[in-house]
Amino acid sequence: MKIGVVGAGIIGTSIAYHLGKAGAQVTVFDIGSPGNGVSSTCFACLNAFGQPEPDLQFRLDAIRYHSTIAREVGSEQLLHVTGTLRFASSDNGAARLAERAKCIGENGSLAQHLTASSAGELAPLVNTHLATDCVFIPEEGWIEAKTLCEHLARVSERRFSVEFRRERILAIGANATQVLVVSHLMGTAAFDRLVLAVGNETNALLTSAGMSPVPLTTEPGPLVELSFPKSDETQRHVIYADNLHIKAGDHGGFLAGVAPATDAAPLYERLEKERLDLIGAGRRWLRRFDEMHGKWMVGARPMPSDGLPILGKHDECPTIHIAVMHGGVTLGPLVGRLLADEMVNGRTDPRLGRYAYVRFSKAAVRSVAGVLGQRIPSADVAN
Ligand SMILES: Cc1cc2nc3c(=O)[nH]c(=O)nc-3n(C[C@H](O)[C@H](O)[C@H](O)COP(=O)(O)OP(=O)(O)OC[C@H]3O[C@@H](n4cnc5c(N)ncnc54)[C@H](O)[C@@H]3O)c2cc1C
Repeated sequence: MKIGVVGAGIIGTSIAYHLGKAGAQVTVFDIGSPGNGVSSTCFACLNAFGQPEPDLQFRLDAIRYHSTIAREVGSEQLLHVTGTLRFASSDNGAARLAERAKCIGENGSLAQHLTASSAGELAPLVNTHLATDCVFIPEEGWIEAKTLCEHLARVSERRFSVEFRRERILAIGANATQVLVVSHLMGTAAFDRLVLAVGNETNALLTSAGMSPVPLTTEPGPLVELSFPKSDETQRHVIYADNLHIKAGDHGGFLAGVAPATDAAPLYERLEKERLDLIGAGRRWLRRFDEMHGKWMVGARPMPSDGLPILGKHDECPTIHIAVMHGGVTLGPLVGRLLADEMVNGRTDPRLGRYAYVRFSKAAVRSVAGVLGQRIPSADVAN
């Protein structure tokens, strides 16, 4: 089977690897080199804590699958299962931590409450005395996402019938048996199936084929690379402290982000508020924050309207699969395996059901709107 994949972020490279492994002949297109999109401008934590109960098990499965894939492709050095430490400084925050710790514990992942002094040993950078509670989740962690994309691309090309091409896809067209992709360099190429793994660009390509867009917005958020001028102090565990998060950077130093502001202000004001929130929380929670150098950037989350991944066939064209989500660094490898199995072997894993594109098909939207009379609410976003 000849399959085209547009997008070589964490989602596209994971899908391409598993499609190749399943025996498909795969061509991957990306404007730049693998991992150059949002996958390289994100916090890259492997997290399940705080996810709604129906998604927790899938998230935990996805985190565990990172170890399997790392062994399989020899990328263990890019995977850091060092645990997350979660701090709250208010009674409400502590109650929320306790509830979430209980929930993840009931789903089979260890969650340990720590005293401020034992948390301080694990997080020397953090002003742990501010915490009213701290929870340690040992099986969470982070990955070097861009390098993993590059690695998956290399291994896929070496082991399987997978080719990566640096080309911008300008448009797609499809019918029930074939998909055409168009670029300046190659003109037109035909595939039996196409996967759209283009994150924020999903609707630009869907509408180029005359297909209905999916309910997706781009939600930018600030990140800052921090470093001490004269010290190589590091932080082994990922830290979540109220709305701040910080972890070791891929190339030394630290990477910090902040939970999105919830108000409906214009984009510029919201980004500025989040930047100031990050600075305020950094000063409060981190020792010597003002001595650190900072390099700011903005990452753009591809965010489905209900916060859940959108996966699987588009109802208007069975030859086109969509794979777009927030949380893609955590979910990418497992999603890649499950979608490849569905496309090549026709086996649909029941875990995909909750995330299937079909919930947005016109018929499904009509019946949900009829029942709720309103938009589906977004999930709580931690990073
Ligand atoms: C601030 C921030 C923090 C985050 N934190 C986390 C976290 O802690 N944990 C987590 O799991 N997730 C996190 N995420 C979400 C995560 O980064 C994304 O879900 C994930 O990177 C999406 O991967 P992707 O492959 O779909 O998209 P991308 O990495 O953007 O890949 C899409 C690719 O498509 C290519 N492309 C686009 N259009 C075309 C075209 N026309 N032709 C050819 N190629 C094209 C692009 O060049 C790009 O390489 C965070 C995101 C942000 C912004």
